[in-house]
Amino acid sequence: MVATSPNDAFVAFEHVQKSYDGVSLVVKDLNLSIGKGEFLTMLGPSGSGKTTCLMMLAGFETATHGRIMLDGVNINEVPPHKRGIGMVFQNYALFPHMTVGENLSFPLEVRGMGKSEREAKIMRALNMVQMGKFVNRRPAQLSGGQQQRIALARALVFDPSLVLMDEPLGALDKQLREHMQFEIKHLHESLGITVVYVTHDQGEALTMSDRVAVFNDGRIQQLAPPSDLYERPDNSFVAQFIGENNKLPGTIESLEGGKCTVRLETGEVIDATPVNVTEVGAKTLVSIRPERVEFKPEMMPAGAHTIDAEVMEFIYMGDLFRTRLKVAGSEDFVIKSRNTLGQRVLAAGEKIKIGWAPQDARALDPQ
Ligand code: ADP
Repeated sequence: MVATSPNDAFVAFEHVQKSYDGVSLVVKDLNLSIGKGEFLTMLGPSGSGKTTCLMMLAGFETATHGRIMLDGVNINEVPPHKRGIGMVFQNYALFPHMTVGENLSFPLEVRGMGKSEREAKIMRALNMVQMGKFVNRRPAQLSGGQQQRIALARALVFDPSLVLMDEPLGALDKQLREHMQFEIKHLHESLGITVVYVTHDQGEALTMSDRVAVFNDGRIQQLAPPSDLYERPDNSFVAQFIGENNKLPGTIESLEGGKCTVRLETGEVIDATPVNVTEVGAKTLVSIRPERVEFKPEMMPAGAHTIDAEVMEFIYMGDLFRTRLKVAGSEDFVIKSRNTLGQRVLAAGEKIKIGWAPQDARALDPQ
């Protein structure tokens, strides 16, 4: 399902570049192979080039350099309507003067399909998104969530093997968005389609995807399954962009056997795992997830270095406690602990020691 080389790819971007003004590149030498049946998400901040990549795959933008392959065929010169790709956008793009049924009929009519076959396909697609009863409504008579379901049905109605989605849930409220994430994921699984999905919402990307390509400044920073991105970020951009993250700047003091110690700028020494730092003396930014920091002495990993921390703020969040600490001179170090029975409640001003297993602190190149 996951394509690791262009040879077993269903979709492949090969050395693709894009410039809108002929001067600056908004997509820089993109190489990305997507397997048949894969759910791949392009995730990144606004302006990082995600939509441009999706539009080039759809055929609405042309690559300045490189080629895009679909099922082994170079599609650089193939017009959008001949690519056989379904698309869903944030703003639905339903035709307002047509009924739901007519909206869905449109992509079938342009493919020259007869009336009875069209009707069967329309009802099948509407039932997939639980909208069979709404075939005669107009878009204005539907809620935002219902309109987005219709947009989804319209993208699926002609049985495309590839569906592109650009922030399709961006206009919906949080609860509906989370519900639709599961619906899209289930449709993907049951239909076996390949999905390329664009979002700037990391929660959405982690929930839905087989793999996520994290974009920044026109380049993929890391391409990996959700758990790898969270547990093993390759660089400080990814560590910062995915989930919550504590950063401690320092210098590599020792480095051997896949472990290192780091001397922080304030003099303390901590344990970490070297990721992309290769020599003693190198500057580093150590990245640690808030839920991986331990403060209870009995839970501290054997042999771990501990460092002093002062509780600045303790926040009760129901299932979690969120505690902000002063660590190594900085006051924005956060730890999260589960609200379990008998969990010790920390108080502002309290002095504690914190530590972690070395594999949970990742020493990254600060660049
Ligand atoms: P994203 O989807 O990650 O927000 P985009 O692909 O939309 O990023 O944009 C990448 C860069 O390209 C941005 O700097 C944006 O301003 C620029 N850009 C996007 N579309 C156009 C366009 N049609 N003409 C000129 N510049 C554009």
